[in-house]
Amino acid sequence: MSYATTPVLVIHGGAGVIKREMSPAKEKMVRAALTLALQKGYAKLKEGKPALDAVTAAITVLEDDPNFNAGKGAVFTHDGKNELDAAIMDGSNLKAGAIAGVHRVKNPILLARAVMDKTEHVMLSGDGAETFAKEAGIELVDPSYFRTEERWQQLQKALKEDKLGQQHSDVETAKHFGTVGAVALDADGRLAAGTSTGGMTDKRWGRIGDSPIIGAGTYANSGCAVSGTGWGEYYIRTVAAHEICMRVTQMRVPLKRAAAEVINQEIPSMGGNGGAIALDASGNVAMPFNTDGMFRGWIGADGVAHVAIYGDESDGTDDPMPGTDQ
Ligand code: ASP
Repeated sequence: MSYATTPVLVIHGGAGVIKREMSPAKEKMVRAALTLALQKGYAKLKEGKPALDAVTAAITVLEDDPNFNAGKGAVFTHDGKNELDAAIMDGSNLKAGAIAGVHRVKNPILLARAVMDKTEHVMLSGDGAETFAKEAGIELVDPSYFRTEERWQQLQKALKEDKLGQQHSDVETAKHFGTVGAVALDADGRLAAGTSTGGMTDKRWGRIGDSPIIGAGTYANSGCAVSGTGWGEYYIRTVAAHEICMRVTQMRVPLKRAAAEVINQEIPSMGGNGGAIALDASGNVAMPFNTDGMFRGWIGADGVAHVAIYGDESDGTDDPMPGTDQ
């Protein structure tokens, strides 16, 4: 039986140390970018386009915005490079595409999508991924495109602390911050998830985090879609996004509870931290995090973009809308 579903789009722009001392100007820019990403993505859903299109449209906006750790504005590796990871997954057929460790791809989420749509593989990395990008007509840029002064200074601080043998200040949080992700439910009831990141400041040796790993930072099936943000190693060990979806689809745990169990219990109990966005096939939304804040937002039937940053700020998901199982 086919039936029309009310589309929903949920996004995040990363979890981490997000204190209220962020300058008002920056806060305004971040809120505007999240709102734009929601509107661009939701426009696709309203046109009847698949959830995948909403996910790529929303993430592309955030990748192009230097305030987020994805695309332009990505964090720097120990060697002073920007190394980008991304993944996308179609919950309706479990198809997925991912890329890791690329340096010249302007919008990594579009390359992940091309891997899914145009190859028989799921994950491509490094130079090979960039060769494929050229063949697939994906825009490449000079590596200097991704650089921002703020991210460069974050690396300098981390390197200084390395030299002094100090723990990085804010080590658990400031180093991972600003990853972007989206999950969407379209009018045909299909779910999709996507995530894009520069990873963690000062990462070394070709380190890959959870974001491009299907099941860890990104996962979608017919009943649930998740994009994570946080200390990637813990999301990989707990296979966090898949774990949330299995609780929802196999164990019939309500979405909010399933997401909170993994993000706010399992991951912190191991010493990790972060957040996630999750969406189920009925349009229920969950946005748990255990850091000071998480850039986040959602948009549903009324077309109003709900955006929140801080932990003590309502994000509107406690309202009876958009879902019913809370
Ligand atoms: N999870 C990402 C990583 O570990 C970072 C983040 O979400 O900020 O690469």
